Amino acid sequence: MQIKNQQVTLPVLSQKKITLHIKRDDLTHPLISGNKYRKLKYNLIEAKKRDLKTLVTFGGAYSNHVAAVAYAGKHHGFKTFGIIRGEEIRLNWKDNPTLKLAHEHGMQFVFVSREVYRGKVAIIEELKKNISPFYLLPEGGTNDVAILGCQEILTNADSEYNFITTAVGTGGTISGIINSTSENQYVLGFPALKGSFLKEDIRKFAKKSNWDLQNEYHFGGYGKVSSELVAFINEFKEKTKIPLDPIYTGKMIFGLMDMIRKDYFKPETKILAIHTGGLQGIHGMNLLLKKKGLPLISV
Ligand SMILES: *Cc1c(COP(=O)(O)O)cnc(C)c1O
Repeated sequence: MQIKNQQVTLPVLSQKKITLHIKRDDLTHPLISGNKYRKLKYNLIEAKKRDLKTLVTFGGAYSNHVAAVAYAGKHHGFKTFGIIRGEEIRLNWKDNPTLKLAHEHGMQFVFVSREVYRGKVAIIEELKKNISPFYLLPEGGTNDVAILGCQEILTNADSEYNFITTAVGTGGTISGIINSTSENQYVLGFPALKGSFLKEDIRKFAKKSNWDLQNEYHFGGYGKVSSELVAFINEFKEKTKIPLDPIYTGKMIFGLMDMIRKDYFKPETKILAIHTGGLQGIHGMNLLLKKKGLPLISV
């Protein structure tokens, strides 16, 4: 199914003579949305080919990837195990919308301390002794096979755009996008976390050098949000009817609009921003915001 790119019309865009479309990869599915579906696609085929009936993966308690693996497992006939970071969550995981949903899709959890989580190899060895042979998906879902799926995000129909923008976590998605760009295109990534390791990770998978990262829009790090970001997401949705998530796409579009305002792009530039999904994470974030007495993301 090919969803048409959606044009954004805001005064600043016409004022700066910039054309902005959003690729609504978030609409592929309400739960297993956007890039996490893309990354899983060929991994599931590979797991079936190897006749493995169980998927094991890693993630934080609000992980879009964990949610996607649980859903995909249920619908493609795999058992799923999620190794979840944070031992304390064992007591109240039912209050966590992401884990509750993953559980409803049949995922079993192993909660481990942050320290144990960092030593992933030991957990994997332990699991090998205790459960049947499994297909291992890395945290965030990025591996060679995942890149193949992400190379399908951009299509020939998108060759009119000069700039492609995307949120960046592990770098798998942007790598796939880079690999399928045409000659005239440049890719800008907006990391959702702090860290200088990302460029190297992307170079492992990306076959071209027509890209760069914008490191000023992570809002303090992974999962960190501010009232300014929440207000931006709410205003953007009100004006364009396009929902953004607070962890990835909200930060990317915030950064992109800021760069447009600051004349980073020449007039007549055509930009395609990839909506990588992640909307399932809004509920979990709203619970955290509510606890802190901060304004919520409108749903
Ligand atoms: C995971 C995720 C990303 C980042 O993808 P990477 O391939 O890890 O860089 C971007 N957007 C959303 C919504 C995500 O869930």
